[in-house]
Parts: sequence; structure tokens; C-alpha cells
Amino acid sequence: MPAAAGPRAAHALAATDREHEEAMYHLGNLLGLDTSNPPGNEAAAVRYVAGVLGAERVPFEVVEPVPGRASLVARLSAHRPDEALLLSAHTDVVPADPARWTHPPFGGRVADGFAWGRGALDMKHMLAQSLMAVLIANRRGLVLGRDLVLAAVADGEQGCANGSLHLAARRPDLLRARFCLTEAGGFNLRVGERVLVPVGVATKGFAWLRVTAKGEGGHGSMPDEESAVWRLMGALRRIESGLVEQRLCGASIDFMDAVAACLPGARGLAVHALKVGSSSAFLRRVMPDREQSRYFAAITHDTAAVTILRAGSSENVIADTAEAIVDLRVLPGRPVAQAVEALAARLGDDVDVTVIRSGAATVSERRTPMWDLIEDAIGRALPEARVAPWILPGFSDAMAWSSLGITTYGFAPVLLPPGFSYSKLVHAADERVPVDGFRWGLDVLLDVVAGWCCR
Ligand SMILES: [Zn+2]
Repeated sequence: MPAAAGPRAAHALAATDREHEEAMYHLGNLLGLDTSNPPGNEAAAVRYVAGVLGAERVPFEVVEPVPGRASLVARLSAHRPDEALLLSAHTDVVPADPARWTHPPFGGRVADGFAWGRGALDMKHMLAQSLMAVLIANRRGLVLGRDLVLAAVADGEQGCANGSLHLAARRPDLLRARFCLTEAGGFNLRVGERVLVPVGVATKGFAWLRVTAKGEGGHGSMPDEESAVWRLMGALRRIESGLVEQRLCGASIDFMDAVAACLPGARGLAVHALKVGSSSAFLRRVMPDREQSRYFAAITHDTAAVTILRAGSSENVIADTAEAIVDLRVLPGRPVAQAVEALAARLGDDVDVTVIRSGAATVSERRTPMWDLIEDAIGRALPEARVAPWILPGFSDAMAWSSLGITTYGFAPVLLPPGFSYSKLVHAADERVPVDGFRWGLDVLLDVVAGWCCR
């Protein structure tokens, strides 16, 4: 693996070997904290980060809208708050079933060259790197040209209401910044014979919908085709493919162009063709890898997935209510409310649709000095790679930071070994981050931080 451990250039914020070790130590400790969301318990991670920062007199504030759901914001001030670079990481993780893991998901164990644990890639690795970046900047006693801000936020996995969205609404004073780096992007992706490093410039909007059908209940011995369950099933069949509407946005076009440029001849042309029309069958032909075809479907469509079904409580009673939760994802360029209306119309009159929670899509300007710094840093750290703008099919804290006018990029740098699939391990069993790739990411992040803040 071409991991270049240690600093590549003598820039102001290069980490020493000891500091690389220290970053690994913090990562292990953070992975050892169970911050599964639900319920969250992010206060445990915030206490840890607060302890580390407090010991080195880095000023911070903790905001806790609900007991246990704490977020922390630290700022190294250069008295230019509006020019700040914000490093943002959510501290919560999705739940993990220990029975399916090689090493305990909350053990913080390092084995076989990897740090294992829920959140290793999503996204405690960036939390540890960002914490280290702040510590190093502070220790060097550098007069920063621009503020450096660290946000360790709750609730990144469940809609951000108790984390970044709360901070953006109630404490925007803490988050004054011009640029933000957060998930997801910054890893190496092999496409054909080339390497891309995707950097997030957009996130999809979302709406979690409760879809309810009612019918007459009754005895299970006398079926009724008009029952709540069958009405619900009839409605859900209309979105069976999951692909609600073919649409495109600038970020998906840019990413597909970058991928097509890596693929010779017919394969490259086929990727371009996805922009015109991408049925599930065509997608699978162009992208035999299921993970890839699902991603490309998601960046060329508004999508809807049925995530929860509920009906009935007894073996011999026909339920009078049936309910599905549908996860609708909307590409930038169309209000989420409009997409909800269109979906409700498609599901038909047999069901009621109500919105449980929703959030807007985000888009970040690409021609910025921060983008150039990212390209330069990747150019130094991984010369064979090309930086490519991409779109996250999920949401991220970009939702909150974009609402404050902060240009936010998905850039949580990590170098992955050959054959290691980022998307297959995030939210899955055996989530882990390569130790060398984590250190590489710290160097890249420091390079970008130095480029922006130390001038
Ligand atoms: Zn995440």
C-alpha cells in the first residue's frame, strides 16, 4: 500500500510520530465509547474530547439540548471568525450487533493493521484527526491567520435535530466559519486503471414518511381484500423499484463525467448514457457490482425505500390499520415538500402520508480556495489520484452548516488498501479503518488546515 506515514513536507502543522501515535490513541478511546444512536449518549464522547482539550487549555463550549445528547464546539481564535475553517464530526454511530463482529464493535481494538469498531469510518476517525489537528495547532503556539473550529456533534445518524441543527438554530455564534470539512469523501476509489478521490459537494434531501392504510378489521378466518394490509401493499407496489423519478444535479453529472473519463471506450460511454436514462436493468448491465449500481441509481434518481412495516397483533385477527415507514431521498434542485406531494399522489388515495422528519438537500460551490487546497493536498499525498466532486446519497451535518452559509465539503481523508470497500463497511459489521490510511488522512487534513489557517 502506498501509504506515506509521517509528514511529506515541512509545513507548519506537520505531525510528529508521537502525535500520530497519540491520534491513534484517541481513536481507540473514542471507538471504545458506545454512542449508538438511538439512544445516542454522545455526552460520553463529548466528555472525552472536553477532557483532552481542557488539559491543554483549548477553549470550548458544550451544548446539551437533551440530557446525554451533548455537542462540543472548540475554537482557536485568530480573531477572524467569519474566515474560520470548521472541522465537523458527528460522535454518534449506528447500532452494532456484537455477534456479527470479528472484534467487539466498542472495544477500540487494533489488530491486523486496522482499528476495529463501529464508527471507525463513520466517523470517529475524522473526530480523532480533527481533535489532533486542533491540539497540534494549539501546541505549536502558531498565530493562526484564520480561526480553526472543531465541532463534535450529536445525532448525525438520526436527522441531526439534537446536534448540528440545534446548534445552527440556537448557537450560530459558535459556528461562524467560511468553510467546513466533514463526511463523506476523501478516500481513494479505484475506477478502471485510475484512482479518484471523491470530495462531497452535495447531499440529498430526505423525508421520512408514515404511510397508513385503514380497513375493517375482523376474524382471520374470513379474509377481506380491502383490508388495511392489502391496501398498504397495493400502494407500496407502486414504488417497488425504489426509483421514484429520474433526475440529475450538477454534482451527479460531474461525478459521472469523472468516472467516465477513467473508463476506456464503451464502458465510459455507458456511464455517460446513464445521464440520459438509467433503468435498474441498464444500471446493472453497466455496473455489474451491486454496490456501484445502487450508488449510481441513487445519484440519478429521487428514491424511496420501505424501511419499516407494522400491522396486526394477533394470529387470527385482521388488522384495521397497517403502516409503513418510507425513506424518501431527493436530489438537489427540487424542494423536498414537492417530492413528498408527488410521492403521495403516486401511492394513491388508499393511504395517508404524513412527514415524520425531513431535511433539505445541500450544494456547495466548487470553485473556492478551499477546493484548491484539497486538490493540492491530495496531489502531494497521492499524486496518481484525481479529486472528483461527488454527491452523498444520504444527509450529513452539511444540512446544518450550509443553512448558516458555510461552504461545506465531504472530506474526511483516509487511504484505503486495495480491495477495501468503503461503502460495504460503513454501517456494516466489522467496520474498521486501516491504521496507515488513518495516519495518511491526518497528514492530509493537517496540510489543508495549515494551508487555510496558517497564513
Ligand atoms: Zn456519518
